[in-house]
Amino acid sequence: MVENLEKFKKLYEGKAKILYESSDPNYLIQHFKDDLTAGNGEKKDSFTKKGIYNQLTSTKIYKYLHGCKVPTHLIKSINSREQVVKKLDIFPVEVVIRNIAAGSICKRYNLRKGHRFKRPLLELFYKDDSLNDPLINEDAVVEMGLCERYELRDIKQQASIINQRMKEYWDQHHLTLVDAKYEFGIDSSSKIVLGDEITLDTQRLWNRNGESLDKDVFREGDDMGAVTSTYNAIYDLIKDS
Ligand code: 5GP
Repeated sequence: MVENLEKFKKLYEGKAKILYESSDPNYLIQHFKDDLTAGNGEKKDSFTKKGIYNQLTSTKIYKYLHGCKVPTHLIKSINSREQVVKKLDIFPVEVVIRNIAAGSICKRYNLRKGHRFKRPLLELFYKDDSLNDPLINEDAVVEMGLCERYELRDIKQQASIINQRMKEYWDQHHLTLVDAKYEFGIDSSSKIVLGDEITLDTQRLWNRNGESLDKDVFREGDDMGAVTSTYNAIYDLIKDS
């Protein structure tokens, strides 16, 4: 029963979250840590309440996506840092959708930061820290058995819808969604659903002056006060919507 789930042993610990097994094999408890990393863990820091802001932000966004009929793993938030989520078999593929050029694509193709793509540009990355999450094409994803071609079709379609909905969401808050990374998995009824989180760690947001209000404040600077205020400000912006 989702109602009285007990937290069992740690299943996996990542850079920003911990997944625990629960008393129901179909559900996990997702715990948000205060750690902040960039460059595949090369730069590390933390601030008090980062995990709380991210848990609350992600819950708010996933509830919005539920309202848009987007299937996600979120069942409910159970305290300031933890959520009950569906247990998924996560595809080791990161789906990045870019509306505006920033970050790794600028370096890779020598593109100007701020270049607006004619249509949202979808990229796939092989989720493997030891390889630094390399860019991967669809044929290689299928060849390596990371997912089947029909699953990829579904994932890409869902990611495009999510990008559209999230663009509208941030637009209502006078922010521009530059890009974001999404992860998908299969639930116990074989349905492909959105997993992981959507927070300032996983997307780039610019205000109308083109200033970053996301993890780039940490990636590109040393002022942890500015990082804390950014995470706080974005949560404050969406908390009552
Ligand atoms: P880029 O490829 O420019 O580094 O990232 C593109 C978008 O995907 C950014 O919004 C970035 O935050 C997100 N992203 C890419 N890779 C990762 C990752 O491994 N972890 C997280 N949390 N976000 C990522």
